[in-house]
Amino acid sequence: MWASIVYLGTQALCIKLFPSHAMGVSYPFMILAPWLALAVCWWHARDCAQRTRLLWTLVCTALVVWGIGILFAAWEDLSFYNPMAGADFSDFLFFVYGMPILLAISSPTEGEHNSAFVWLDAVQVVMTALLIYVAAFSVLPFTPRNGHTLSISRLLVIYNFEGFALAAVATLRLLAYTNDGEERRFYQILCSYLWIYASLAALYNHITISTNEHTGLYDLFTVLPFAVLSILAVTLFSEREETVQSARRKPLTLFIDNASPIFFTITLLVLAAALVREHYYIGMSGIAVALAVYAIRATMLQSRYMHAQQELQVARDKMEAMSLTDSLTGVANRRSFDRTLEVEWRRSVRRKSPLSLLMIDVDFFKNLNDKYGHPYGDSCLIEIANALQTALPRSSDLLARYGGEEFGIILSATDARGADTVAFRVREFVRALHLKNETPIGQFVTISIGVATYEFPHEGASADLIQSADEALYRAKRHGRDRIEFAVPATITRESAATSAKVR
Ligand code: GH3
Ligand code: MG
Ligand code: MG
Repeated sequence: MWASIVYLGTQALCIKLFPSHAMGVSYPFMILAPWLALAVCWWHARDCAQRTRLLWTLVCTALVVWGIGILFAAWEDLSFYNPMAGADFSDFLFFVYGMPILLAISSPTEGEHNSAFVWLDAVQVVMTALLIYVAAFSVLPFTPRNGHTLSISRLLVIYNFEGFALAAVATLRLLAYTNDGEERRFYQILCSYLWIYASLAALYNHITISTNEHTGLYDLFTVLPFAVLSILAVTLFSEREETVQSARRKPLTLFIDNASPIFFTITLLVLAAALVREHYYIGMSGIAVALAVYAIRATMLQSRYMHAQQELQVARDKMEAMSLTDSLTGVANRRSFDRTLEVEWRRSVRRKSPLSLLMIDVDFFKNLNDKYGHPYGDSCLIEIANALQTALPRSSDLLARYGGEEFGIILSATDARGADTVAFRVREFVRALHLKNETPIGQFVTISIGVATYEFPHEGASADLIQSADEALYRAKRHGRDRIEFAVPATITRESAATSAKVR
């Protein structure tokens, strides 16, 4: 801050001391200013994240171009000073200076780094530079200069347009940031700098042209924006604390963010359209390049979007499957059980078909865990789940781990007789595993099963079916385990209302 004030003060003093040589005295200050600002920005950007560093590199590139431009301007002015002569090579450089800045403003905040986009931007930069050259000198580069250069008044209009347009789009870009962070601070600095640069450049050029002579103290206007840029870079980058960009961004923010890459393309398109009348082929080439870049970018983004959608769908399916699977046994979990039972219940009500449920509990499982350890208990659960699954003949049957060492089997369109058959089969499959568990009732793992069948599921709710099967299961436990019990009310059919519990 103080260094900038001293710098400006010294320049003002020198101009005052040598008013007759104001231009010669001022130029060293003007030439040095962008390079000093560049050094400050570069120094403060070196610790930034890679993306922000790239943005700063673009700004530094712009400062280099401006720095070279002012050198040319000095040489042009000091050797043949005539401000009304029209565009010089320095003017071309001052236009080109805006391009790296526009590139920085056009870069999107998110999305994977894509080298194809960098190439597209490079093509646009080259084309824009060519068009600027043609616009300024009315001839192609490397051809003898016999075209008519831009008049000074048009030059001024374009300068002002460039300066204020850059400041405006930078401001728009700043709006895309809701949370504080390195990138937001970069755009804050850039915005302030661009507005000051545009205003002071407009004022300076206006005064220079209207007075038609060198303007002494007004030369400070050219140095001031760089001083402000340096001060902002120092002050804003000393606040280092970072806040995380929130995952959810507002629609306006997303819109601006996604529209940003088109800023450069629009610039190229406008420039090319403006040139079409005087330079048909060059102008049309510019329009073609702008449209091609836009089309390629849009297609690539669309493909990327489709790819992301597909990946999202796969991830969603995987998550859904995981959320419905029991992690230990790999069979359906309680959530899946509840969901399926509800669906099957409604289907049975609609089709007037019976629905059966088997609730299965491993006998003396606590004893097994205590005697042989939990890892053995876990492997037993896995083997039991596999045996139960193998015992189910129909793909429409659902086996689920209900909780702990309890399993549930939903048998759609299955009457009491069918459920009886399945329960018997299931018990035999588990018995056949011969998993060791010494208990008062035997040497191997056994299960108890409670069976409930609703022949007409429209009466009651699906929870009633669970309750009926549960009651039957606990009856099986009470009656000594390793057995199958049928729920009394659940197996009641219209035809045989008097049937009582069957025990196998
Ligand atoms: P009952 O014959 O009356 O069903 O007796 P039980 O010992 O099987 O029943 P209880 O409810 O007393 O014990 C169930 C045991 O199952 C207790 C718990 O530690 C064990 N258990 C529940 N989930 C798991 C599991 O995922 N892995 C293992 N190894 N054990 C489990
Ligand atoms: Mg239990
Ligand atoms: Mg048990």
